[in-house]
Amino acid sequence: MSALDDNIAKLDGFLGRFRETGILNRIAGADVAGSEGVFQSTSPVDKSVICEVAHGSAADIDAAATAASEAFPAWRDMPAKQRRDVLIRIAEGIEARAEEIALCECWDTGQAYKFMSKAALRGAENFRYFADQVVQARDGQHLKSPTLMNVTTRVPIGPVGVITPWNTPFMLSTWKIAPALAAGCTVVHKPAEASPLTARLLVEIAEEAGLPPGVLNTVNGFGEGAGKALCEHPKVKAIAFVGESRTGSLITKQGADTLKRNHLELGGKNPVIVFDDADLDRALDAVIFMIYSINGERCTSSSRLLVQESIREDFEARLIERVNAIKVGHPLDPATEIGPLVTEEHYTKVTSYFDIAKADGATVAAGGVALGDEGYFVRPTLFTGANNQMRIAQEEIFGPVLTSIPFETEEEALHMANDVAYGLTGYVWTNDLTRALRLTDQLEAGMIWVNSENVRHLPTPFGGLKASGIGRDGGDWSFEFYMEQKNIAFATGQHKITKLGAL
Ligand code: NAD
Repeated sequence: MSALDDNIAKLDGFLGRFRETGILNRIAGADVAGSEGVFQSTSPVDKSVICEVAHGSAADIDAAATAASEAFPAWRDMPAKQRRDVLIRIAEGIEARAEEIALCECWDTGQAYKFMSKAALRGAENFRYFADQVVQARDGQHLKSPTLMNVTTRVPIGPVGVITPWNTPFMLSTWKIAPALAAGCTVVHKPAEASPLTARLLVEIAEEAGLPPGVLNTVNGFGEGAGKALCEHPKVKAIAFVGESRTGSLITKQGADTLKRNHLELGGKNPVIVFDDADLDRALDAVIFMIYSINGERCTSSSRLLVQESIREDFEARLIERVNAIKVGHPLDPATEIGPLVTEEHYTKVTSYFDIAKADGATVAAGGVALGDEGYFVRPTLFTGANNQMRIAQEEIFGPVLTSIPFETEEEALHMANDVAYGLTGYVWTNDLTRALRLTDQLEAGMIWVNSENVRHLPTPFGGLKASGIGRDGGDWSFEFYMEQKNIAFATGQHKITKLGAL
C-alpha cells in the first residue's frame, strides 16, 4: 500500500462518523442542530460532499453566548494551576489525535499533508505555550505615588467570539482560543463555513480534556448570519477575527453598537526584497517556500518578489525551473507540495488573475493554468515583467501565485515595498547590515524577517499595519487583548482631600 492509499484509508475511517451524524453545533457541552437546518461541506480534492453541517444563525449564537456567559464566572475563578492543567491536557489530546486532525484538514481545505501534519502539532504548541503563562497572566505592577499605593491587575474580559478563516483553520483557531482560555475567558467559536471539520475535533478534544461545558462553544454557519450575530451579541465582549480586510471592516461596523473590542488579523501583499549581495541560494529557497507552501493561502506569504535588476535574469531563471518542478497532487500524498484550492469560488478568483496579468502586460513565466476539472487544482504560477501598479502587485490573490518586479536602487525597492494598502510582513535579503537596518526601520510591516523566511516564535508580537489589521497576538500581547487592566489605589496616609460645601 502506498503512503497515499494508507492515508486515504485512514481518512475514510475518520470521516465515517461525520458522514453518519454530520457536524452539529456544540453549545454548553451538548450537540445542537442548527436552527437554519444544514449546509453541505465539500472537498476541494474531488468536489464530493464530505458531510452535512449545522447551519447556525442568530438564535444559535444567542444560545452559545448565553452558555459562554453562564460558564464564565466559574472558569474565571478556577485556580490558575487547575486551568493550566486543563490546557496542557488539551495539548496532549491534540498530539494524540494529530494524524486525524491533519488528514481531516487536508481533505476539507486541500492543504498538503506535508504542511498540515506540522500545523496540527503547532496547535498543541499554542496550548502548551499559553498554559505556561496562565499563572502570571493576572500579575500586575505596583506603582507608588506620594499619597497612594497603586496596584494593577488584569482580569479576563468575559465571553469572547473567535471567527476564523479556512486557510489553516485548526492552527489559527488554537492561536486564538488557547490564549483566550488561558486568560480565563469563555469562547464562542464561529469557524469558516468552508472548513468546519477540525473545529469540531477541537471542541471534542477540549471537553475530553476536562474543559467545563460552555467554556468553548462552536457554532457553524455563514459570515452574514452566525458571524454577524456573534459580532452584535451584547454578552460577547470582544471579537478575535482572522480573515479578509474587507470582512475586518464589517466586523468593526457590526460591533459598534455594543462597543466591541476587536482584534483583526487581515490580509497581506507582502514584499520579499532580494538584493544582489544576498546569499542567493538561501534567498531562492525562502522566496519559493514563502509563496508556494500552504498553497499560497497564507496571510504572511511573500507574494511580491522585488528583485534587484543586476541579478534578476539569473534569479528568475532559477525560480522558473524550481516552480515548474513543484509537485501538485493529492493533498494526502506526503510527497505533494501543493494541493487544490479550497473552494470553487476561491479557485475562480485565483485563476482570474492569469488573464488579469496578461491583460496588464505581465508575462506568465510559469504555471498560469488549471489542472483538470476533477478538483480545484492549479499549477504554481510566476508572473514576471510586472510593475508595482498592476493588480497582480496590489491585490491579495491568496494562492500559489508570485509576482516578480525588478528594482535598481534601495530607495526604489523601499518605495515599492510600502506602496500597497497592506502592511503585514516584509522579508529582506541582503548581507549589508546597515542597509538592513535602514530598510527594516522604514518598511511598513508589522513583522519583518532579514535573511530568513517566516519562522514563528510564540513570545513575539504577530500582526499587521495598515489594511493588514489592528492588534497583536503572541506572548503577553495576546493577554492584553483578552484581559482588562484594573488599577486599584490605596491611600497610604491622611492626604488632603479637597473639601467642597464645608464651612
Ligand atoms: P473571510 O474574511 O471571507 O472569512 C473569515 C471568517 O469570517 C469566516 O469564518 C467567515 O464566515 C466570517 N465572516 C464573513 N463575513 C462576516 C461578517 N460579516 N461578520 C462576521 N463574520 C464574517 O476570509 P477567508 O477567505 O476565510 O480567509 C482568507 C483571508 O484571511 C485572507 O485575506 C488572509 O490573508 C486572511 N488571513 C489573515 C491572517 C493573519 O494573521 N493576518 C491569517 C490567516 C488568514
